[in-house]
Amino acid sequence: MSLLLIVEDEPDLRELVEHTADAHGYEYAGCGTGREALALARRLRPALVILDLMLPDMSGIAVCQQLRADPELAGTPVMMLTARTAESDRVQGLEAGADDYLSKPFSVRELMLRVKAILRRAPAVAPPAAVCTALQCNGIALDEAQHTVTVEGAPLYLTALEFRLLRTLLLRQGEVQSRQTLLEDVWGMSPDLQTRTVDTHVKRLRERLGAAGAAIHTVRGFGYCLRSATEVEPSRD
Ligand code: CA
Repeated sequence: MSLLLIVEDEPDLRELVEHTADAHGYEYAGCGTGREALALARRLRPALVILDLMLPDMSGIAVCQQLRADPELAGTPVMMLTARTAESDRVQGLEAGADDYLSKPFSVRELMLRVKAILRRAPAVAPPAAVCTALQCNGIALDEAQHTVTVEGAPLYLTALEFRLLRTLLLRQGEVQSRQTLLEDVWGMSPDLQTRTVDTHVKRLRERLGAAGAAIHTVRGFGYCLRSATEVEPSRD
């Protein structure tokens, strides 16, 4: 059974979300501060964190960043709850590494649908046996069945989003992917959304891959393409 960590400082709202999670067959743990959230996440290893943006001791963004910085928790999906509706705030949440967001007031039914969708997308679930499970390029190896990534044989811990982004690029090696396509296929978001989310995450993924990250090429004004660093254009000399 999947355990949800529900971080919300309004007791009534937290209780409602907890009750709904329970009714949908999830285990849950709840708390009202960022500090408790980080401690509980480390202890319980939740399948997903529902995280309020405005907490009394620290912002949800900071909590999310700390989760992402912890190798053991970096891959935990985060669903951000925000009272704000400004697009910049939502984008800020996504850029901090949240997998999805929901603006308050929201319906708990929609929240549970989104949670279910994130957990379904989360690569922790083993793919069907027929699916090719080992993807490789430029020293990068992604094993879907094991949910592991290695670079030149050394393990690399990625967030759920980074894992999906890398998987998508590896599956479509040599094919140029537009930002809109990636936004739709990796984030499940409308391709019309104006956001630098894709660029931010590709930049971070490249950094995390180190020298092997050179395989992710920027196609100026369009998007990205992953191909082996050795497959360069032949010299004209
Ligand atoms: Ca709050």
